[in-house]
Amino acid sequence: MTARPVFRFAPSPNGPLHKGHAYSALLNRKRCMAAGGRLRLRLEDIDRQRCRPEHEAAILADLDWLGFGFEPDVLRQSERFGAYRDALSRLDALGVLYGAPASRAEIAEAARTAEARGMPLARDPDGAPLYPFCDRDRGRPAQLGEDAAIRLDMDRALSLAGPVSALMRQKDGSFARIPQDPALWGDPVLARRDTPTSYHLSVVVDDAFEAITDIVRGADLLAATAVHRLLQVLLGLPEPRYEHHRLILGADGRKLSKSEGAARLSAIREAGGTVEMLKEEWGL
Ligand code: GLU
Repeated sequence: MTARPVFRFAPSPNGPLHKGHAYSALLNRKRCMAAGGRLRLRLEDIDRQRCRPEHEAAILADLDWLGFGFEPDVLRQSERFGAYRDALSRLDALGVLYGAPASRAEIAEAARTAEARGMPLARDPDGAPLYPFCDRDRGRPAQLGEDAAIRLDMDRALSLAGPVSALMRQKDGSFARIPQDPALWGDPVLARRDTPTSYHLSVVVDDAFEAITDIVRGADLLAATAVHRLLQVLLGLPEPRYEHHRLILGADGRKLSKSEGAARLSAIREAGGTVEMLKEEWGL
């Protein structure tokens, strides 16, 4: 018997869910049911400043209203810092990490100076300037994450991993192997001084830990998949399949943010909206 596919919805409890989350959750459920799979909920709460228990409670209430139907043992990333530390140590043993001491303010300052000189720094797909300092030769960090952010040395990582690709769902529902370009991210941060991991590292560790086979998430995370595939190859983790769905936009045509009141699920619910109305709107 082949194992059932495993899907997951992985919100960060740093604010209320909005229509974009509802679309992602409902699409995950639709794909999961079509595949006869299992559906997991993961709370990506590594940011201990911004993630709050009241947001978590509100998310659970919203998902209940959506009829999301996930398996009862919810994974909280805040309980998994040990696993992220282990993954970081394994990467460190490969010689692909370095301690990058410059703070965000120093990087921003370097970006401003470069811009003023008419030679702006290259930026990653999220718009953050690539790390402008030559710290790669500092080599293995003495203390993981203690006195510096930990960055991935992209050149070394790529020379170890070779070309990376991802299995991506196409419009017709088939999956195609698409070449990925992790170098667009420069040397991404894998652990911060204040948080001993990062989104990229923990998502990859947990997708493997939960044996996720199918990742369905917004198109805003399409570029991140390149880094995730690279980390999976370096860490010897299984390869999931990916689908990046369209983003639900606000009235102003921009991506919804957690602060946008009218699109909150609680507001929709209070205004008499129903899950059936949402599904109909999106053809789900
Ligand atoms: N926690 C991420 C978010 O809320 C989603 C991560 C993922 O699906 O890979 O945007």
